[in-house]
Amino acid sequence: MRWKGRKQSTNIEDRRGRKSSFRRKSSFGGIGFFIILLLFLFFGQGKSLLDFSGSAPSPSQSQRPANGKPDEAKEFIGVVLEISEQVWGDIFARSNARYQKPKLVMFSNRVQSACGITSAATGPFYCPGDNKIYIDPNFFSELTRMGGRGDFAKAYVIAHELGHHIQSLQGISDKVTRMQQRTNARQANKLSVRLELQADCYAGIWAHHAEKKLHILDDGDIEEAINAANVIGDDHMQRRAGMGVNTSAFTHGSSKQRVYWLKVGLLTGSVSKCDTFADLR
Ligand SMILES: [Zn+2]
Repeated sequence: MRWKGRKQSTNIEDRRGRKSSFRRKSSFGGIGFFIILLLFLFFGQGKSLLDFSGSAPSPSQSQRPANGKPDEAKEFIGVVLEISEQVWGDIFARSNARYQKPKLVMFSNRVQSACGITSAATGPFYCPGDNKIYIDPNFFSELTRMGGRGDFAKAYVIAHELGHHIQSLQGISDKVTRMQQRTNARQANKLSVRLELQADCYAGIWAHHAEKKLHILDDGDIEEAINAANVIGDDHMQRRAGMGVNTSAFTHGSSKQRVYWLKVGLLTGSVSKCDTFADLR
């Protein structure tokens, strides 16, 4: 993906390197400081190890780089976000609507949002309560470890979260939540999967128009995104976790479904084609 040197969005909030409440309390100094320091050493560290159980990367990697060092993760995310502001801005303008740009929060370890406190182990997410996207850049190394290699694979993950923002602006997320409240757990889960697949399709729309407008694609980029959609499909993740494939536990859809809907967005660039709820009507 040709992203270096491109304009970056200003809608990034960098909260990396914050140690949530511990740092605030430490400013009181004195005995309290040492007690909190001890508590942190004994429990704080243990807790973060628990949160990062399994193959997750070490928390220190997503701290801000030292002064003078290039902050590649931030630059990359800034460029993808800026492109999305152009792409979705145009799409909304074509239907006489104004695109409300979301903020993107970069964090490390855990983060507080309108959706509560979330550990980085959950992966990137969108919180409809504050219209912000949350990403711990460590997830990108995890994605690479899972086999989702390349810049464009990372861009697809960001574009998927942006897709949830679009759904929120369109009122689709609220509609689905209301439908879920009226049905059983199994049906509610199926609705979540459709929402996720639509976000994949919207990620495809991002890529379609980004290429048309700015020619960002290199050879092999589309394959990178499709490969990422494949490795983060629920069936693939379950098999990787050594579990049997259990479709009722799917939250994002199977690899095949994710690749299918990403391709629909990529090839058509059309919001109306991303109707993953069509057969419900
Ligand atoms: Zn999602």
